[in-house]
Amino acid sequence: DAQFGPAHPRWIRVNSLKSTVDEQLDTTFKGFEMVPTVAEVMAPASTGKKLICLDGNVPNLIAASPGIDFTKTEAYKSGAIILQDKASCFPAYMLDPRPEDGDIVDACSAPGNKTTHLAGILHERGFAGGQRILAFEKDKHRAKTLAKMVGAAGSDKVTKIHPGADFLKTDPDAPEFRSVGALLLDPSCSGSGIVGRDDTPEFHVPAAVGAASKPTAGGAGSKVLKRKRAPEAPTVVVDDDGAETVLSEKALETRLAALASFQLAILLHALTFPRATRVAYSTCSTHATENEHVVLAALRSPVARRRGWRILPRERQVRGMREWPVRGDFSACEGAGEGGEDGGDREGGDGVDAAVVAEGCVRADRE
Ligand code: SAM
Repeated sequence: DAQFGPAHPRWIRVNSLKSTVDEQLDTTFKGFEMVPTVAEVMAPASTGKKLICLDGNVPNLIAASPGIDFTKTEAYKSGAIILQDKASCFPAYMLDPRPEDGDIVDACSAPGNKTTHLAGILHERGFAGGQRILAFEKDKHRAKTLAKMVGAAGSDKVTKIHPGADFLKTDPDAPEFRSVGALLLDPSCSGSGIVGRDDTPEFHVPAAVGAASKPTAGGAGSKVLKRKRAPEAPTVVVDDDGAETVLSEKALETRLAALASFQLAILLHALTFPRATRVAYSTCSTHATENEHVVLAALRSPVARRRGWRILPRERQVRGMREWPVRGDFSACEGAGEGGEDGGDREGGDGVDAAVVAEGCVRADRE
């Protein structure tokens, strides 16, 4: 949302497991004025006003005037609303989980914003009997935060958490994963895209839920991790727990290469789940090394070619994504793009198609 300048609205996702947008408009947002665009929420003339706007891309998402503390509201404390940045709401929405998909994997889950979003979407669509979200989190401490957030959001009954489990060590052919039809991949990254916010909803866990493992700042009540604005050249990297490190150009390159190699391993692993037909890949990074390059490398891999993974054409994306103006640069990607070359031998004669990009978020499909 760089189009709105350095200030950003407060993004609020209504958790459909616990509430509805209409209910929240009548309660939490009573007294707020509804305006048609986010630009109006953020206009200089709007300073000091209590304005909201329904997001045009992602359902159940509300932009509110900055500077308003929602952490004291009943809705926040009860898990009816979740403070979650718009970019963080794309992956679950674009993955488009459905009852017929069987189990859904969230490979890198904590603190659980996207896990709970997946649950909310499936709740609206009607969970199929026995359908679960399988949430992996390698870091045991962060897995505790995940469990608390999943509980607070009311999605614990449908979410099976694998605390301390390394997604890369799972056997995709194990009986437990036989029905996995879609995977969400949000691996650790450089965090270079986290800018221009006073706090980071991504790591903003309700006080009742607990803090991320190493909060760098934030009051005891709200557990908000304060972030500094990144400098023009994003040589700052932010780890999963919010700690920032400024790197030299050379050190940054080395760090990005290591991250990209791990991210590619996660993506390639996901592509091997036998029943999987959709994968969403996202990062909080602005570096192509962690975004397009990872996706391109994955799509060029033997497994992707054999199984027929492709970038999903715009017209087949979820509505809000079709209308989202930003796309990744896949010009270097011969054959992996919309309607690209045939992937060669396909396993089981599967049809294909594969990925979408928005703010470092990619969806891959086959059918
Ligand atoms: N998806 C989360 C959300 O929206 O709230 C944020 C995920 S954060 C960017 C990445 C997470 O992946 C971290 O909690 C990290 O501990 C976890 N992680 C890293 N490598 C992993 C692996 N191999 N298997 C499972 N989890 C992993």
